[in-house]
Amino acid sequence: MDDKTGIKFSDVAGQDEAKESLKEIVGFLHDPKKYEEIGAKMPKGALLVGPPGTGKTLLARAVAGEAEVPFFSIAGSEFVEMFVGMGASKVRDLFKQAGEKAPCIVFIDEIDTIGKKRDSGSGMGGNDEREQTLNQLLTEMDGFDATKGVVILAATNRPESLDPALLRPGRFDRRVPVELPDLKGREAILRLHGRKVKLDSDCDFNVVARMTPGASGAELANIVNEAALGAVRNGRSRVTQTDLQEAVDTILAGAQKKNAILSEKEKCIVAYHEVGHALVAALQSHSAPVQKITIVPRTSGALGFTMQVEEGDHALMSKEELLDKIATFTGGRAAEELVFGSVTTGASNDIEQATKLARAMVTRYGMSEDFDMVALETVQNAYLGGDSSLACSETTAAAVDAKVVEVVKAQHAKASRLLADNRKKLDEISQYLYEKETITGQEFMEILERKENS
Ligand code: ADP
Ligand code: MG
Ligand code: ZN
Repeated sequence: MDDKTGIKFSDVAGQDEAKESLKEIVGFLHDPKKYEEIGAKMPKGALLVGPPGTGKTLLARAVAGEAEVPFFSIAGSEFVEMFVGMGASKVRDLFKQAGEKAPCIVFIDEIDTIGKKRDSGSGMGGNDEREQTLNQLLTEMDGFDATKGVVILAATNRPESLDPALLRPGRFDRRVPVELPDLKGREAILRLHGRKVKLDSDCDFNVVARMTPGASGAELANIVNEAALGAVRNGRSRVTQTDLQEAVDTILAGAQKKNAILSEKEKCIVAYHEVGHALVAALQSHSAPVQKITIVPRTSGALGFTMQVEEGDHALMSKEELLDKIATFTGGRAAEELVFGSVTTGASNDIEQATKLARAMVTRYGMSEDFDMVALETVQNAYLGGDSSLACSETTAAAVDAKVVEVVKAQHAKASRLLADNRKKLDEISQYLYEKETITGQEFMEILERKENS
C-alpha cells in the first residue's frame, strides 16, 4: 500500500483521452457523498487497456495522487506463485484493508494472469488456484458497496483473453484505452523525461520524436536515460543530440524485434494506404464522413486506422451505400498499387470485410440481378453474430462465388479510378499524415477542399 503516490496527471504526458475519462473517478474519490446524495452510482471498476509501457500503471498511480487517496496495488503474477488457497485469501485481505481505508484505489496490474478465460481447460492444480483467485475477486467486487468510495482499477495488454465474467456490468464495465503515443505525444513524453537530465542546447526532441514512430512511453523514457548514461561514458556533463540519437539506435534496435516499430518506408506505405481508404470514402456520395486517420499502430495489431462516423442512426443500408463501403475497403490496397506499383499484406482485414459484405449482398440481401430475391444463405443465431450456411446447390454456389468476385472487382476498379483522378490530393494528404501521424477529419477535409494555388 502507498499512502500517497504523489503522482499527478501532469507526470503523464499525452494520453489526454485516458486522463479525461479517469477524471470522473478522481472527482468521485474526492467527494463520494456528492454522488451518493444524487443517487448516482460510480462504476466499480475501470480497465486500462493498451500495449506494454504506455503508462497504464503510471496513470493508475496518478488517479490516486490526484484524488489524494491511498493506493493498494498487486500484480496478477504475484498470485501465481502462491500456495494453494493463498490467492483467494490474499484477495479477501486486500479488499478488507481497502474497505477500512476508503476512499481509496485498488489496482490490479496484469489482471490477465488471473483473469484468463476459464474454459481453457488446461487442467490440474495451478489452474484451479487461479480460478479460485478469480472467483474470490468476482465475489469481492459484487459484495462491496460502491458508494463507500473504493474504486478498482486494473490493467492489461491482452483484453481479448479476459474472462467475460470480469467485464459484466457492475464489474469492469469501463474500458480506458491507453494507446501508443503519436508524434506530439512522443515529443511531450521526451520533454517530460528530459527535464530530469541536464541537456545541451542542441537537443531537439521533435527530431527524436520523428525518429521513433511506434515507440512506447517506457521506451522513450529509456532513450533519455540511455542518452544521459552515454554522456557520462563520454565524459561530458550534458546530454547532446548525438547522445540522444545513439540512444534511439540502442533502445529501438532491441524493441524493433518485439513490436511494430515501422521503418520509414513502411510508415509511408501505411500512410498512403489509410489515405486511400479515406479519399475513396470522401469522393463517393454514399459514404460516412471521415472522423480520424492515424498511422500509430493500435493495440489490435493494426498498423493504421481510418475512422468513419455515420451521421445519425442508421438501421437500413441501401445498395449504393454498401457498394461504396466495399469500394472504401479496397481503397487502401488501390492506393498502394497506384503509388508503389506493388502490394502488401496490409490489406488482409479489408479483404475479409469487403468479401463478407459482397457475399451478403448476393446471398442475403437480394441485391444482385442474377439471383434476385432468392435466399442463398441462412443465418443461424443472428444475435450471437451469426454463423451462416449455404442453402443452395453446388452449381449455384459456384455462380455465387463468381458474382462475389465480380462485385468486389468492380468496386476495386472504381476505387483505383477515383484515386488516379485525385492523385495530387492523395500525395498531399498522405505526406501530411506521414508527418503528423494522426489527423482529424476536419484537417483531412481542409486539404481535400483547398484549391490548387498554381
Ligand atoms: P504500463 O503499465 O502501461 O506497461 P508503465 O506505466 O509501467 O507502463 O510505464 C513505464 C514507464 O514509462 C513509466 O514509469 C514512465 O517513466 C514511462 N512512461 C510511459 N508512458 C508515459 C507517459 N505517457 N508519460 C510519461 N512517462 C511515461
Ligand atoms: Mg504496468
Ligand atoms: Zn486497410
